Amino acid sequence: MTTTTATAERNLVSEPQNRARSVEAIHRSTEFHWVGDGFHVSTYFPSENLPSERLSPFVLMDYGPAKNFEPLARGKRGVGWHPHRGFETVTLAWEGSVAHRDNAGHRGVIGPGDVQWMTAASGIFHEEYHEEQFTRQGGRMHMMQLWVNLPKKDKTAPPGYQPIVSAQIPQVQVQGGGAVRVIAGEYAGAKGPAHTFTPITMLDVNLNAGAHLPIALPANYNVLAVVAEGRVRTGATVANAGELILFNNDGTQIELAADEAAHVIVLSGAPIDEPIVQYGPFVMNTVDEIRQAMFDVNRGKFGPVPD
Ligand code: MN
Repeated sequence: MTTTTATAERNLVSEPQNRARSVEAIHRSTEFHWVGDGFHVSTYFPSENLPSERLSPFVLMDYGPAKNFEPLARGKRGVGWHPHRGFETVTLAWEGSVAHRDNAGHRGVIGPGDVQWMTAASGIFHEEYHEEQFTRQGGRMHMMQLWVNLPKKDKTAPPGYQPIVSAQIPQVQVQGGGAVRVIAGEYAGAKGPAHTFTPITMLDVNLNAGAHLPIALPANYNVLAVVAEGRVRTGATVANAGELILFNNDGTQIELAADEAAHVIVLSGAPIDEPIVQYGPFVMNTVDEIRQAMFDVNRGKFGPVPD
């Protein structure tokens, strides 16, 4: 009978043992744009080629490969005050320095190796600029910003802010050369410092040429590996710098082999099974909630914007 078959299939899907995940898609982003005048990034997703339910809980990823900025004697580079509601912004810096300020009273600098995990939730205004000293001196900026969705019940939570400095992020050595920095979730017994609303494992991985790295992840997690630099292989699939690997949810681990030295960001988490409506700086469940967010911004419900 159909019912029996369906149950059997469900069991097979939910209990894969010691199995490496296969590749669902390789996605490349080729177009760059400026965010304000400070961040030259490529938006890997949202993308028409990647279904949003396969990326959940991640809704947006902007990656800015290392780019040199000339010294600027006067003025600043970046993005001025703008609102967000319904999700979290996660900013990773590898080179350069980003200064952040929001109207919930948080401010900080995201330097090389640091991660800022900001919860917009019910609504926030913030600004994101190159840090002042960095702007004057010039230098390379290398960063990523992720938008992490929140479940409906947490979209109304008060704004929050986790400044995570490099020294707080545990680093696990990889056999064969390299290291795994655990930003969120767990790898090899090391726990990342980020507090998340839904289960997320976020790893910043550097592999030497020849290194092979298995990473155990719950079978229900959606898993993406972004190859920032170098080249990795998983099974028979090769992914180069500028490509993102979307894994099928068909195993309990992913395997990365570095044909050459590689820098890979692993994004994974339990999917949030709710409708997503994204419009500009808002990520909600319905069009009505987007409309409400726009009304609320105009009515000053996101709080006053500092000078
Ligand atoms: Mn922003």
